[in-house]
Amino acid sequence: MWNVNSQRIKSLDAIDFPTLGFQNLRWQYGVFQSNSTGSGREKKYRSWNGVKTELGEIEEKVWYQAAERLIRQKGEQELLGYLIQWCSECNIFKETADQIRKEALQLHVDRIFDNPRWIDFVPFNRRYRPEVLKTARLVTVVSECCQEPGVVTQEQIDAAHEETISCPCCGRWSHFEVTDSALGVSEHQVEQTNGMEMI
Ligand SMILES: [Zn+2]
Repeated sequence: MWNVNSQRIKSLDAIDFPTLGFQNLRWQYGVFQSNSTGSGREKKYRSWNGVKTELGEIEEKVWYQAAERLIRQKGEQELLGYLIQWCSECNIFKETADQIRKEALQLHVDRIFDNPRWIDFVPFNRRYRPEVLKTARLVTVVSECCQEPGVVTQEQIDAAHEETISCPCCGRWSHFEVTDSALGVSEHQVEQTNGMEMI
């Protein structure tokens, strides 16, 4: 039987864009292989830089082209722009603009902005998509390191690693205390925190 997973995709033509969804393109892991053929002076090396996805292995540079095209097709260029801006501001490794764009494309296809376990879920959406936070399960915590109230998601608390979460103020993994988990006040919290940031 023909195995779809063993297929290697080397051009955009091999991808059926009208039926393509973000989950089909999700980056599972990178694949690197190098082969040599012939011997002595005739020896030739070939390498394969692929990305494992639901569709099969896609050549890495084709994967980025496909991601760009899918985002355009879904009319989400603006959202990609937000992610690029976000990644540029967090750029502690001094990556080039090209590397940042690639990183943002991976995050975008992964729908990271919809994942409440993402540590930047609250600050990112507060800035760019405040409507998303209206339905999020927001919790106010005070973390040990900063001793300041900050907002995280219930999902981050549920996933707390050794009872620590990424501090909403400084990002360090820290113990915390829940001060307010009333779901109804989430909108108010957002406004309030926005206001605090303006000062
Ligand atoms: Zn802190």
